Amino acid sequence: MSQQSQEQYQFIEKILKIHVQEDVSMEEFQFFYGGNFNLAVRVKLKSGEFFIKWNQGDHHGLFEAEAKNLQLLEQTKTIQVPQVIGVGAIEEKEYLMMECIPTGGIKANYWEDFGHKLAQMHQKSSNEGHGLAYTNYLGAAEQKNDWNLNGVDFFIENRLKSQIEIAVYNRRIDLQMEETFNRLFEKLPQLIPHESSSLLHGDLWSGNAMVNADGQVALVDPSCYFGLREAELAFTTMFGGFDKLFYEAYHEAYPIEKGFHERIPIYNLYPLMVHVNLFGEGYVPAVQKILNSY
Ligand code: ADP
Repeated sequence: MSQQSQEQYQFIEKILKIHVQEDVSMEEFQFFYGGNFNLAVRVKLKSGEFFIKWNQGDHHGLFEAEAKNLQLLEQTKTIQVPQVIGVGAIEEKEYLMMECIPTGGIKANYWEDFGHKLAQMHQKSSNEGHGLAYTNYLGAAEQKNDWNLNGVDFFIENRLKSQIEIAVYNRRIDLQMEETFNRLFEKLPQLIPHESSSLLHGDLWSGNAMVNADGQVALVDPSCYFGLREAELAFTTMFGGFDKLFYEAYHEAYPIEKGFHERIPIYNLYPLMVHVNLFGEGYVPAVQKILNSY
């Protein structure tokens, strides 16, 4: 084992000693490189299997927020999410320890079941306000969640304007583009349906939808908020999209208003602008193309 791996092994041991009462000798220890920027391991003890993510103390509060997000989703009792075991910091490194979700073969009804469960989650968690009681993260980007009774205003203020401000400050977009955004904002109340909010996973793409041991869906890595459910469905189309059966099942259980396909690009301006801010100007033409079409 390299010195770095040994240090990480010892770091994980410390976390286990805090949160597990029994014997913490690790039967299996496997690094996980699936994620964005955090480090992760899967560890197997006599008492069970755990998944631990940590960072180097950057993105302060990220895991505390992620733990709260997981607990919010869990309370809906609709889609499986990993149980949170503990969250904390050791030597300035923040960590999140959770139950490990073992994976299995996909069941034939995976997508229908997923669509129904997501619809149920959105329906059951309907809320008057749009927002959340705390700031969290989408990937490495801070996500502002100031409450607003109006879903469109929430989307403009907390989702688009907050990202535009950062992009202008960092000269990733120019003032002319900001002006084009402002003109779009005037049209949004007519373009977006006025719905009450639902609890959203907030970062719903295939990388965060696992197949559990029963062959059904389990969600990880949420960026929750109470918001427009159409924004969640639009988000799923960002990186290739989900199976057609998923959308059909969702629509059957909790129908969405006509014209959704034309609204998808509007909602996806948010993750695109986050990409502009995190990864650079390469994403600006995609934003411009959407703005030009409204
Ligand atoms: P990051 O926040 O760094 O993007 P993720 O939480 O998305 O990391 O995790 C990366 C991958 O690790 C996921 O795509 C999933 O395959 C796996 N994973 C995440 N959480 C668990 C868990 N609790 N149990 C098992 N595997 C997990």
